[in-house]
Amino acid sequence: MAQTTPNHTVTVSGWAAHDSSGKITPYTFKRRENGVNDVTIKILYCGICHTDLHHVKNEWGITMYPVVPGHEIIGVITKVGSDVKGFKEGDRVGVGCLAASCLDCEYCDAHQENYCEKLQFVYNGIFWDGSITYGGYSQIFVADHRYVVHIPANLAMDAAAPLLCAGITVFSPLKDHGLVETPGKKIGVVGLGGLGHIAVKFGKAFGHHVTVISTSPSKEAEAKDRLGADDFIVSSNPKQLQAAKRSLDFILDTVSAEHALLPIMEMLKVNGTLFIVGAPDKPFQLPAFPLIFGKRSVKGGIIGGMKETQEMMEVCGKYNITSDIELITPDRINEALERLAKNDVRYRFVIDIAATSNN
Ligand code: NAP
Ligand code: ZN
Repeated sequence: MAQTTPNHTVTVSGWAAHDSSGKITPYTFKRRENGVNDVTIKILYCGICHTDLHHVKNEWGITMYPVVPGHEIIGVITKVGSDVKGFKEGDRVGVGCLAASCLDCEYCDAHQENYCEKLQFVYNGIFWDGSITYGGYSQIFVADHRYVVHIPANLAMDAAAPLLCAGITVFSPLKDHGLVETPGKKIGVVGLGGLGHIAVKFGKAFGHHVTVISTSPSKEAEAKDRLGADDFIVSSNPKQLQAAKRSLDFILDTVSAEHALLPIMEMLKVNGTLFIVGAPDKPFQLPAFPLIFGKRSVKGGIIGGMKETQEMMEVCGKYNITSDIELITPDRINEALERLAKNDVRYRFVIDIAATSNN
């Protein structure tokens, strides 16, 4: 049932999942009118993140149907509220995962809105006015401007869309660990998917030695030739795992499904950090021995703050980093979700939303 909230008068065409079958169908719904702090965005492109798939299938048990997924949103501003600063009509902008936060806690004050307790997401969230949020698999978006970023002029809009979630999610941990400014470390990336392949590009741009740890031997050549990875370890190969023990300073785990942490932790040097951003539905087993014998840390994080997201965009502009994408029309979203579930994408599906638009 579509929600009815006062001021939600803007009719929007989009695509929604109505149950956990994994299927998306066209869906018309209402968004709020453009408020004083809002910008209205004509969506041109939206990436398909694995988080969308987790939600569509209710794998985390938190989906409020109908869900309109999509948090890698790129488009052009068509309307600007009277209190908005820094944005104007015609600007190329992006919206990621954040729709709202309290704007008043220690984390919001420190530009870490992503850790605000009252954080709300752009879909499957509850906005300040009590409405359920609908994401970017749709033609129009209304965003509070504090959760909008500018897209550097040299980046292609379609290939830049995945930066809004995949990009910032892997940039933030690298930044947090001093790996954006200081080169020469040995970094591992587990899972060469949407997040993982951008992590490899960042790692190389920032001057590190990058090792991919993957379940897919077929990705080795392109990981090295296209993405510039230095080493490639197949996680089912005990010899390669053995040889890589205690070789890495920092590992970013982007895997979407259950997997063993033990061999990954053993690849860390003493004092190394395993940073988990992948979000499997089942809990990890955390073995004590590789922790205590290597003084290693395991931690996690969610996306990044808005200031950092803008900074990441500028860095991508500087190094010309975008996602490798497969551009699809909206009638192929279901096919894309099926292929994403089967790990059959290089490396991000992006929906060409405007391809179906009437104007
Ligand atoms: P993706 O494109 O599907 O990539 C995930 C990769 O994990 C796959 O390409 C595959 O790489 C590997 N993988 C898949 N199944 C596996 C299995 N059973 N065992 C081991 N490895 C497996 O997904 P994504 O969009 O990058 O997202 C990855 C995860 O991050 C998802 O869980 C998503 O929800 C989460 N996420 C978290 C945040 C955050 O803020 N923390 C933000 C965005 C996404 P190989 O073929 O190389 O093994
Ligand atoms: Zn995402």
